[in-house]
Amino acid sequence: MDFSSKLLENAVNEMSQLPGIGKRTALRLVLHLLKQPKEQTHKLSLSLQNMRDEVNFCENCHNISDTKLCEICANPNRLSHIVCVVEDIRDVMAIENTSQYRGHYHVLGGKISPMDGVGPSELNITTLVEKVKSGVVEEIIFALSSTMEGDTTNFYIFKQIEAYKVVTTTIARGISVGDELEYADEVTLGRSILNRIPFENSLKSS
Ligand SMILES: [Zn+2]
Repeated sequence: MDFSSKLLENAVNEMSQLPGIGKRTALRLVLHLLKQPKEQTHKLSLSLQNMRDEVNFCENCHNISDTKLCEICANPNRLSHIVCVVEDIRDVMAIENTSQYRGHYHVLGGKISPMDGVGPSELNITTLVEKVKSGVVEEIIFALSSTMEGDTTNFYIFKQIEAYKVVTTTIARGISVGDELEYADEVTLGRSILNRIPFENSLKSS
């Protein structure tokens, strides 16, 4: 792509670093911004900058938060002895939308995926195991997507906590294999949390 302006080219290059944004789409977005009032672009870049510089991760569950403890962990009405293990904040949002879950979460920050170079040490697994060891957790609910990476991650964590006194369950598979949690409709997802099954049963059936 030949650009008449280096400034334009730089902006397009940066924009096209985003996932799913090719050079053409990046150019369309940048030209759109050029047509908008300057303030619009300033607001956009400032909000991105502030988010990147100031965002925190909850020190209890690793959810994205503006404070040390996220709203869920800081809420005394939530049940801290039930912990739902999810991949990222999108899953927390999807499950919260169902209004069927009153426990805490533990956000792993991804799934074990050797193909993508993601091993257990890249994920928030140690803090989860520590939580279980400390005896404050009565139930761990696995709510990762049922892909091979999700299953591998569940099994890895299960092996780490098996020896401790904790009930392990997994969400019922109304969600078909390979589906990502965030795309499951609220009713199905809500039901699969309420109808969760012992984790070991899910191993036998697969
Ligand atoms: Zn939290």
